[in-house]
Amino acid sequence: MAKEVQIAGAGLAGLVAGITLARQGFRVKISEARPNIGGKMRYADSTLMNPTQIEKHLGVKVDEALEPWPYTRVWAYGKKYELPNPKGVQSFTVERGGGKTSLENVLYRQAIKEGVEITLGQSLSKQELKELPPGSIIATGLDRKAFEAMNIPCRPFFCHMTTGTGDPSRPGVIVYFDHFTREFGYYFQANGSAGSLVFSVQRPLVDGEKQDFRRLLHENDGVDFSGWNDNIAGWAAWPLAAWRNLRLMQDDKILAGTLAGVVSPILLFGVNGALLSGKIAAMAVTNRDQAIKEFKRIAPLYYPQFTFRKLREYAPHVFLKPLIRGILSSYHPSLFPWLMLFALWPPGYHR
Ligand SMILES: Cc1cc2nc3c(=O)[nH]c(=O)nc-3n(C[C@H](O)[C@H](O)[C@H](O)COP(=O)(O)OP(=O)(O)OC[C@H]3O[C@@H](n4cnc5c(N)ncnc54)[C@H](O)[C@@H]3O)c2cc1C
Repeated sequence: MAKEVQIAGAGLAGLVAGITLARQGFRVKISEARPNIGGKMRYADSTLMNPTQIEKHLGVKVDEALEPWPYTRVWAYGKKYELPNPKGVQSFTVERGGGKTSLENVLYRQAIKEGVEITLGQSLSKQELKELPPGSIIATGLDRKAFEAMNIPCRPFFCHMTTGTGDPSRPGVIVYFDHFTREFGYYFQANGSAGSLVFSVQRPLVDGEKQDFRRLLHENDGVDFSGWNDNIAGWAAWPLAAWRNLRLMQDDKILAGTLAGVVSPILLFGVNGALLSGKIAAMAVTNRDQAIKEFKRIAPLYYPQFTFRKLREYAPHVFLKPLIRGILSSYHPSLFPWLMLFALWPPGYHR
């Protein structure tokens, strides 16, 4: 009889782990708390990746969900920058939500085809998470319960999001740094859907700050928010409490995705990390030493970012403005891999 592996969470990491193990002949059972799969992919809309490399490394298809854009526009304290991608590195908006070609649904179809059993609406309690059999994979994202059950330090995390319809002929991303947050806000469009998101990690945004961000987007880029759904003001646990949070194993459980800490501490992005750590988690089921080696290969890329975050986190705008403008002004496509290490650790970029 096929050996069984249990996975908690059907976000990107859980789905990739499930597909990989099912292909190796395991009977895979995923418990998903929500009535739908995908986790935070509902909110993740832009990322930098090389789909060819990702697909080659993971053995899963992702390209259906991606739409390329050639450069990123950034506004930093009133000054505009256009950052073209270097040759060979493509930026993509990643389709989100329940659409047929959204990344989570592209993965979901592959999981079902491989015979992965997914139970929706099954939220595992702290006790149930702890009692999962040794070698189970926990890929529960930002859920605080799992951090507590696994005894991993976490911290609160806030962001604010609006969604609406965009112009399908203008896929892309516009990033804003300004006084409305110490983090950043951005606007994205993919396949005709659009959204804006402001990270404000330390505390929720107040109304005046939200209005300031919208005003900037409206004045500079003509974004019209009328009729938009002002729907998500998130609170969650976040692995950025300590840099030792980056871990593949905790006791006898295997961690994947956000819970394993593979989220860029600077930009708070994690699609690449979730996809790849899903694959590494699956590897840990069959060859733990190799998986630990692979995990350790990627981990050092996060540590400098984490240090940078700690330095800038409490910095006032008077310090952030020259810092961010300085980084943007010295941008050259050849420096891109160094600026964007968070997204570039997929194999093929940094070797
Ligand atoms: C607002 C926001 C915007 C983002 N934007 C971007 C972006 O633009 N680009 C980018 O690259 N990254 C972005 N990220 C990060 C990216 O979305 C995540 O890193 C990635 O989706 C995490 O995948 P995951 O599989 O680790 O976790 P998740 O996607 O969170 O999936 C975890 C799953 O586990 C389930 N679950 C939780 N607890 C339990 C339980 N007890 N029992 C059973 N199931 C459980 C959840 O319901 C969920 O489906 C963003 C994140 C946020 C929050």
